[in-house]
Amino acid sequence: MHNAYNAKAYSAASATSPLAADSILRRNPTERDVQIEILFCGVCHSDLHQVRNEWSEAMPTVYPCVPGHEIVGRVTKVGSDVDKYKPGDLVAVGCMVDSDHTCPRCQENLEQFCPNVTFTYNSPDGHLGGVTYGGYSDSIVVDERFVLRVPTNLDPAGVAPLLCAGITTYSPMRHWGVTKGKKVGVVGLGGLGHMGVIFAHALGAHVVVFSTSPGKTEDALRLGADEVVISRKADEMQKQAGSFDFILDTVSADHDINAYLNLLGRDGNITLVGAPQKPLAVSAFSLLVNRRSLAGSLIGGIAETQEMLDFCGTHNITADVEIIPIQKINEAYERLLKSDVKYRFCIDMASLKSE
Ligand SMILES: [Zn+2]
Ligand SMILES: [Zn+2]
Repeated sequence: MHNAYNAKAYSAASATSPLAADSILRRNPTERDVQIEILFCGVCHSDLHQVRNEWSEAMPTVYPCVPGHEIVGRVTKVGSDVDKYKPGDLVAVGCMVDSDHTCPRCQENLEQFCPNVTFTYNSPDGHLGGVTYGGYSDSIVVDERFVLRVPTNLDPAGVAPLLCAGITTYSPMRHWGVTKGKKVGVVGLGGLGHMGVIFAHALGAHVVVFSTSPGKTEDALRLGADEVVISRKADEMQKQAGSFDFILDTVSADHDINAYLNLLGRDGNITLVGAPQKPLAVSAFSLLVNRRSLAGSLIGGIAETQEMLDFCGTHNITADVEIIPIQKINEAYERLLKSDVKYRFCIDMASLKSE
């Protein structure tokens, strides 16, 4: 194909295949495109879900599947109409690579809710047909409007997870007014939760981490928590009743949401960013008292993602990563299922060169 080139990638051939080296087509940059050499790509739980077709009802996976939406890289080429970036710039790409730019959601800078949003992988590809391929690859070509600038004082490997785990936790905190003087809870200390603690602390809030395991206390305090509550201890939970302004719930397993709703004060909000498979049972009384609310949140718009990256640059914030070569990705997925990572795997894409 004259309008495309071959790129190296790691892909899954089916829901039961391990990821393996592959060659994929990327479009040659058009006028508004930025071509990026990928340096690092974070490993999100969504990658695993999509590779194994576990969201088959909402988003059936098209194979081969190249996951990865926490991308940091260097610009290698730009189209003639690109004015925001030039070769050599350190940039990032998150969960989206395009939208229709015209609908009300796009006009409000909330592209993540655009009915025609193009996600970074497993989304219809308007340029080459088929589906989009994500960041487990040596390069990617993206419309400049979906490319983000990376503050150069930050470690690029630690920046990668900010593009999904970071914006997913930052956006609801900004929306619900987390600031100095507020009391904020974070439920679960994993990939999302550890970013939630860092952001809530940097925004000036009093931060309480809820964890099932006492083993995470030291880490939670290091990340910026003021208190750690072991959620299995009823008396510890009772002491916190009615005292929170905002709680970020990052748990994707089945859990008792009422135990946390009861901790909210007047007009307090709990926002879900995890996605348990089973519907949560919500007691109406837990909501009626104190006029509490239960909400959800999905990543964030492009403008807010850039704001988050700039905030991280100012406050020297990066994710805690374990850097792996791409050859260890299948092993990393197995460890991810056991929550055996502090707190995000990040692939060093230089390892792909030897494939
Ligand atoms: Zn993700
Ligand atoms: Zn739109």
